[in-house]
Amino acid sequence: MTTNASLQARREAAVPRGVGVAHPVFAARAENSELWDEEGRRYVDFAGGIAVLNTGHRHPKVIAAVEAQMARFTHTCFQVSPYEPYIALAERLNAIAPIEGPAKTIFLTTGAEALENAVKIARAATGRPGIITFAGGYHGRTLLTMAMTGKVLPYKKHFAPMPAEVYHAPFPFEPFGVTVADSLRAIETIFRADIEPSRVAAIAIEPVQGEGGFIPAPTELLQALRKLCDQHGILLIVDEVQTGFGRTGRMFAVEHSGVKPDLIAVAKSLAGGFPLSGVIGRAAVMDAPEPGGLGGTYAGNPLACAAALAVLDVIEEEKLVDRANAIGAAITSRLHKIAARNDVAPIAAIRGPGAMIAFDVVKERGGYEPDAERTKQVLAKAREHGLILLSCGVNYNTVRLLVPLTVSDAVLDEGLLALEQALAA
Ligand code: PMP
Repeated sequence: MTTNASLQARREAAVPRGVGVAHPVFAARAENSELWDEEGRRYVDFAGGIAVLNTGHRHPKVIAAVEAQMARFTHTCFQVSPYEPYIALAERLNAIAPIEGPAKTIFLTTGAEALENAVKIARAATGRPGIITFAGGYHGRTLLTMAMTGKVLPYKKHFAPMPAEVYHAPFPFEPFGVTVADSLRAIETIFRADIEPSRVAAIAIEPVQGEGGFIPAPTELLQALRKLCDQHGILLIVDEVQTGFGRTGRMFAVEHSGVKPDLIAVAKSLAGGFPLSGVIGRAAVMDAPEPGGLGGTYAGNPLACAAALAVLDVIEEEKLVDRANAIGAAITSRLHKIAARNDVAPIAAIRGPGAMIAFDVVKERGGYEPDAERTKQVLAKAREHGLILLSCGVNYNTVRLLVPLTVSDAVLDEGLLALEQALAA
């Protein structure tokens, strides 16, 4: 029998250590919110391939749409012979995205590429170089998005020099003692110390920081950024790569604030497990780059576009945006009950909109000193209890839950019981 241990040994010999692995559980197959490893062991999946599976593993409608597309053609390159599913998907996103006025959409492959292209488009539209992002933010691993990412370890170490003209402001979070006023003051300092606002192309922000610890951007921050952008002719880029497609109890997380960004980067759950990303934006801004300035050989792959069209149908038909709120409420109430037990690991700051829920593992009940070591143990214990779980956060002590929105009540409950057992262990 192929064992996880034997595969792990082969992986260590054949694949560089720079690719981190959360769990040495080698996938053999998966359905909806369940995954089976090569040894035949079943797990409840609360990771969803890092926020990719809002519609679950292998949703039958997504698989059927991809199979139908596969029978027609799998690749032409949109820049050679374009195809209808790409256009149909752009039309659907243009219609539902919270963009003021007419919108246009380009498709790429990864989340990082979506952010790269959003910046290229913003620079072309404004004729300016500067980008402001936030500490703790995560935008990808390419050169530019690595610079935009607000965390040195492990993302930037050994990879200098960073691309120029990227500046970071602190992200507000009460337990860290950073307020919205602090963040806005820091941007004013950037304007005075580093770059005048008339040279800034864009401010890029996650409506809920993902890798940084599931920290929602306060509405007053997003509103203030919109105002600041309008005042100085800066474009507002919202990174919905992790938050989009129903996860937060809205189709797009920025909708919670009522703020309309100029550009929205999307990826992950857009195509339910197939590689697809996009930039949705104000039509006039999107048309700034010259013909041929945007694109990519695989960008907007037809199989992935077919998958995404099915994903949007499933979100609508199965009312997954409402389901996210119901799942979030069930998880939150269970977590508060667990937090009240005094025979489990102390947890704090249970938070998150919709089903984008996280909590922090801390050293003492009522305190806020991070316990990264215990967090690692909780993830390992969860695995022993049959639950695939992920951590995140700048202090490595945030446990995040990204269960598919298609999960049944029974499997959700089973996962939460395993989580409770892992915290009690
Ligand atoms: N932005 C955000 C908010 C993300 O969470 C991620 C991935 N975790 C990315 C960008 C990068 O996406 P990808 O890994 O597909 O390049």
